[in-house]
Amino acid sequence: MRIENLTKKYKNHMKEQTIFSKTSFDFKDYNSIALCGRSGSGKSTLLSILAGIDIDYVGDYFWGEEYLEKTRKDMANIRLKNISLISQDFCLLYDRSVYENLAFPLKLFGMKKKEISENIIDILKLLELDDLINEYPAKLSGGEKQRIAIARSLIIKPEYIFADEPTSELDELTEKKVLEIFKKYQQEGTKFLIATHSKEVANSCEVIYNIQNYKILMNK
Ligand code: ADP
Ligand code: MG
Repeated sequence: MRIENLTKKYKNHMKEQTIFSKTSFDFKDYNSIALCGRSGSGKSTLLSILAGIDIDYVGDYFWGEEYLEKTRKDMANIRLKNISLISQDFCLLYDRSVYENLAFPLKLFGMKKKEISENIIDILKLLELDDLINEYPAKLSGGEKQRIAIARSLIIKPEYIFADEPTSELDELTEKKVLEIFKKYQQEGTKFLIATHSKEVANSCEVIYNIQNYKILMNK
C-alpha cells in the first residue's frame, strides 16, 4: 500500500496543528518497517490513517495499483480483510475473558468452534500466556494485556499488522521473544509496520522510517 501527498492537521479549539505536510509513505515489498520519531511526531496518527480508521486527511491512498476513495465503507472493507492494528491502548473487551477476546475476530471470519479453540490454545502457548485463558483483562498486568492484544492480531494471520509500540510494556527478554515470533510470522507472509522507541525493535526490521519535520523519511 502507499499514500501520496499526505497532509494531516488536527484542529483543537480553533488551533491548528500540522502533523504531516505533503509527504508520502510506500510500504513497497518490505516484510517489516520500523516507524520511529519523537513522542507526538505522528506515529499513531500514521498507523490509523494507513489502517483506514482516520480518513480525515488530504492525500491519495493506493492499495496496489487501486486508488481508494476515502469513504468509511471502502476503507473498512480493506482493513477488515487485510490489516490488523495493535493499538497503544490494546482495545481489549474488558467484560470478556481472554478466550473470548481471541475468539471474537475468528468468529467474524466464520471459523468453526473446534478450530477456534485450537488456534487460541496454540497462540497462547506461543506467547507463554496459556495460564491466562480464562482470566479477564482487568486482572492482567500491562505486559500481559499487551501480549493478549498481540495474540489477537497474530491469530487472524492478516496480510499486514500495524503495531503501535507493541513492546512498550515488556521486559527485554519478553520483547526478544515477541520479535522472534514476529519474524516467524514474516516468514509466513505477514508484513509488519511497527511504531517503536525501542532500538532492538527498530533494528530487527528491514528498514527504518523516521517522522521528522512533518515528513516520513527513510533512514539511510
Ligand atoms: P505519536 O504516536 O508519535 O506519539 P500521535 O500521532 O499520537 O503521535 O500524535 C501526534 C500529535 O497529534 C500529538 O501532538 C497529539 O497531541 C496530536 N493528536 C493526536 N490525536 C489527536 C486527536 N484525535 N485530536 C487532536 N490532536 C491529536
Ligand atoms: Mg503513539
